[in-house]
Amino acid sequence: MHLKSLHINGFKSFARKGELDFSTPITAIVGPNGSGKSNVAEAFRFVLGEQSVKSMRGKRGEDLIFNGSESVSRSNRASVRIALDNEERGGTRPFPVEFDEIAIERVVLRDGVNEYSINGSKTRLKDVQELLAAANIGSTGHHIISQGEADRILTASAKERREMVEDALGLKVFQYKKVESEKKLKKTLENIAKVESLRREVAPHLKFLERQVKKLEKSLALREELKAVYAEYLKREDTYIAHHHDRLQQEKIAPEATLEELAKALNDAKEKLEKDKKQDEKSKELVALEQKITDHRNHRQETTRTIGQLEGQIAYLKRRIAEQQKRSEKVTESAIPFSEFEKVATSIEKTVEKASPSEDVSVLQRALGDVLAPLKVLLKNARTMGLTIDTKGEEQELASLEREKEKADALLGEIEAGEQTLQESYTALKQAIESEGAESREAEREVFRIMNEQRETEQVLEKITRELSVLERDRMEFKRELQEAVSLMGQALSRYFDYEVIDTQGKVLTREQIVTETRGVQVERRRALEKMKIRLEELGQGTGEDILKEYKDVKERDEFLVREIADLEASVGKLEELIADLTKQLNEQFVVGIEKIDSEFQKFFTLMFGGGNAALKRVKLKVRKKKDADLEDIEEVPEPEEEEEELEEGIEVDVKLPNKRVQGLDMLSGGERALTSIALIFAMSQVNPPLFVILDETDAALDEANSRRYGDMITALSERSQLILITHNRETMSRAGVLYGVTMSGDGASTLLSIKLDEAVAVAK
Ligand code: ATP
Repeated sequence: MHLKSLHINGFKSFARKGELDFSTPITAIVGPNGSGKSNVAEAFRFVLGEQSVKSMRGKRGEDLIFNGSESVSRSNRASVRIALDNEERGGTRPFPVEFDEIAIERVVLRDGVNEYSINGSKTRLKDVQELLAAANIGSTGHHIISQGEADRILTASAKERREMVEDALGLKVFQYKKVESEKKLKKTLENIAKVESLRREVAPHLKFLERQVKKLEKSLALREELKAVYAEYLKREDTYIAHHHDRLQQEKIAPEATLEELAKALNDAKEKLEKDKKQDEKSKELVALEQKITDHRNHRQETTRTIGQLEGQIAYLKRRIAEQQKRSEKVTESAIPFSEFEKVATSIEKTVEKASPSEDVSVLQRALGDVLAPLKVLLKNARTMGLTIDTKGEEQELASLEREKEKADALLGEIEAGEQTLQESYTALKQAIESEGAESREAEREVFRIMNEQRETEQVLEKITRELSVLERDRMEFKRELQEAVSLMGQALSRYFDYEVIDTQGKVLTREQIVTETRGVQVERRRALEKMKIRLEELGQGTGEDILKEYKDVKERDEFLVREIADLEASVGKLEELIADLTKQLNEQFVVGIEKIDSEFQKFFTLMFGGGNAALKRVKLKVRKKKDADLEDIEEVPEPEEEEEELEEGIEVDVKLPNKRVQGLDMLSGGERALTSIALIFAMSQVNPPLFVILDETDAALDEANSRRYGDMITALSERSQLILITHNRETMSRAGVLYGVTMSGDGASTLLSIKLDEAVAVAK
């Protein structure tokens, strides 16, 4: 036996402690009307967790507590406890807990507070319900049939009937789990929505911070890059300047020395040139000599010419004298004095002069006559006078000319001698000058050459100096750049010299290799550097610790939320799986169960009625359902259609009585209804027998013959479930192993007592 006992104290009419012991399969409770029998059945409902006070015939929880009578004061609390046997049988226990006995107690206080306990430990209603469901004691109370409620299973709606059947089939435990899971699912989905909304709230800020951090990271990366480029730039620049400075200093040495030497050489050359200045006086002398020679030459030529003339005259005179001497010997007709001829010539000349301009022929003819006339006179004179020779004057003239010539010859001799002397002096002087001049030119050339070389060397030096000054400017610029770099990038850059310049293969470059780079590349590097600085400035400076910290916090929070969502979604998945699984089990077991109940129902029905047909039918019913009724408390604008149609599975009962045309439940008599419902209840109990069944005057409407059949069925049923029967029926009483009488004496309080069948029959009557 599973149901061991019922303790009742202060519950309804049971003002005093009372105990019922259920040591037999069938226990009957008998007593007069109003003694409190039904209160016992309700005590069962109460302790099993019934929440409807109405179903226990009360309005409030208080109504369940003994209200007092004229002689007995009212109780402050009502308590009911049932003891259930949980001993192992065949390796299993009815309840899934490690106790041999389970005592469930429920207490209700006047303020309406309910307390539950299992084996003395306070617990929740839910735990009691779950424990009971595990042993197939459901809360729908299909196994507690209250008075007048025998046909409750027939009057119930198809849906309620389905619930009862599910309960009877022991599917309640699945139902509980399913409902529980659905609640959890709903809660979880709500939580997901909440967390997601939290994430959405955080998102813009996080995005903003992310951008800031990205910018910061970019800025830091750029800073690092800039540092490296800076270090390389500085190292290269310094190396370049140092290298070229050294080179130029080295290059300066030779030209400087050369210049020094040249200055000395120039000095020497100039000194030499100074000496040659004296040459000028000699030149003047030479010029004077030249003049003298020229004078001499002119004089000589003049004298020579005079001599020539004299010689000509002398020769002429000599020839004349000789000719005249000859003529004097021979007498010639030409002894007319010369003066005569001159006169004639003069006369002719005059005439011709006079006539020449005229073109008149007569004038010209006259002139011709005038010319002829003197000539004719001369000729006549010549013939008459003869020739007179006189050479005396000519000889004198000749002698004077010869004297003159002698003098001239003497002079010429002198002149030639002087010229000769001068020429000799000149040649000597000129030779001297020429030889000295060559030396002087040599010195001059030397000076020029030195000066030229000086100029060239100076140019070379100037070039070096220019380069040095350019380098100096570079050095100043480098210093400025270094300062700027250190103030911008930090003190670390001042150790730029430790930086190693590497080539594309990662090999460290030597100083010599560094300086082979063309200057343009470094200039380009400088440009790149400036660009980077501008970009860095645009990105903003600073370490942004605050931003990083805030970003980290917000990110962590967001990640936490993401994890939360993932966890929740995982539970959603699990819950959905569980729900699907439970639904599947429910459906499968329900289908199998309903078929079994159906066949049992048919058996019991024909047994009860001696024939006929009874069947359970699964139906799908359209019901109107409030949409999301559970979400009522959430403040949301309600949807326009608050109701929606849904298909709901239910169970209909079909009966056909033997030898009767009538069909359907509505057409049955009270007794027929009672028998039908009893048949169904028994059928349900057969398929999945509950631990106990309480029947409160289910047999009230039965006649004697039916009472017997009823009694037979009870006996059959008691083999699988314990029966507690509240009855006035003698037949029913006779089937019970133990009988309890309930009496109510004058104090308005019910009393329980164990009685014998005869007493019971007497009481019942
Ligand atoms: P019947 O045979 O007529 O069905 P019964 O034996 O089943 O009668 P009950 O219905 O169990 O009788 O008992 C009803 C009695 O219990 C009533 O007299 C009622 O006054 C009493 N009763 C119910 N609640 C309380 C209460 N809170 N305090 C005192 N008495 C109560």
